Amino acid sequence: MIHLLLLLAARVLAQDRTTEAGEASITDQTLECTIYSYPPVVAALNTFPPIWQPVMSVPTNDTVGRAKFLAMNASIPNIPPKGTLTGDFSNFTPTYNTADPDCWWTFHQCVTPKLSGLSMDIANVPEPRTLGFGFDDGPNCSHNAFYDYLAEQEQKATMFFIGSNVMDWPLEAQRAVSDGHEICVHTWSHRYMTAFPNEGAFGELYYTLQAIKLVTGVTPTCWRPPFGDVDDRIRYIASQLGLETILWQYNSNDWEVGLNGVTTDTVQANYDALAANVSAGLFDGAGVIMLTHELNNYTMQTMIDNYPKLATAFDHLVPIAVAQNKTQPYVETNYTFQTFASYIANHTTKPSLNGSSGSGSSSGSGSQTTGTGSGSAGAVSGSTGLVAALALVLGAVALGL
Ligand SMILES: [Zn+2]
Repeated sequence: MIHLLLLLAARVLAQDRTTEAGEASITDQTLECTIYSYPPVVAALNTFPPIWQPVMSVPTNDTVGRAKFLAMNASIPNIPPKGTLTGDFSNFTPTYNTADPDCWWTFHQCVTPKLSGLSMDIANVPEPRTLGFGFDDGPNCSHNAFYDYLAEQEQKATMFFIGSNVMDWPLEAQRAVSDGHEICVHTWSHRYMTAFPNEGAFGELYYTLQAIKLVTGVTPTCWRPPFGDVDDRIRYIASQLGLETILWQYNSNDWEVGLNGVTTDTVQANYDALAANVSAGLFDGAGVIMLTHELNNYTMQTMIDNYPKLATAFDHLVPIAVAQNKTQPYVETNYTFQTFASYIANHTTKPSLNGSSGSGSSSGSGSQTTGTGSGSAGAVSGSTGLVAALALVLGAVALGL
């Protein structure tokens, strides 16, 4: 056993676990998911909430975050939190007004806010016979084979990243930007958002934005609520943070295999039905978004297995921002996507990255040069590994839709 551990340790040391390119070159999934330490994350940990824990308040030492929350708090709609963080609404739904005054998606899939001033959720895409192509719950530590496959297909996608996963797997998050994928927010701890009080809901979004900025250098302008659980109070908080709400119309149920009677056959039938609906003309007026996941090796492999069928059935598979003709996907203006017309005219090239893909990760690696002496860095590295290991265990419990 000790011999095996030493062997594994030697193989890990032989890999470059300090750069995006080094991490992306690992093909052994056990090695991919072996914890590493990334100095910019280590240095910033005390300004973030605990990884994988629901955010209940802004950390006391984050004066910028607190000021930002207080600036919006008074104007947040007075809609009470619903149910529990794990999605038990049994004590709430029976007394909820059936007219759905909060436009609560979980209740009746409402996507048109009742509160004035809020934009409609994005649940489909305007371009006909087009799939808005995206994946939830990443970055997954063992995603190299999946991202390699997408790269071979010269296929870009929208990645909805969980803040805690970004902190655990920063080089994997960098790869998504480097590969030209679009990054959106999928909250800090992946709980039901309508259950959070205002400060917690703010923190779930704000610290995921901060994590993505810290690690990749970009600030997303889109988010997807875990389980689709959103109402006008949460939409308002997201909009104040510059985030557009993205949902879906079709569900692959890939996350749900083994639960609620869902099997791999169910998931395959969902993929088949989506492709058949293209042929049947259902998307001749407007395109579609299907919920699929970077959650585990099964969900990623299932997409690989079905990709040829989808690519044949649809006229176009594009990141959601491209389908929306949203050419500036991030707050940072030095980063642009092609228009839809331009993208499909030459889909073999990456969405154009003015300033190159290196601009995204450079801010993260730049911070590395400020690292402390080797003695203290070693000590920090060990404790971060423990934090990440605990986070992995907690995260495995928390993950879902
Ligand atoms: Zn999710």
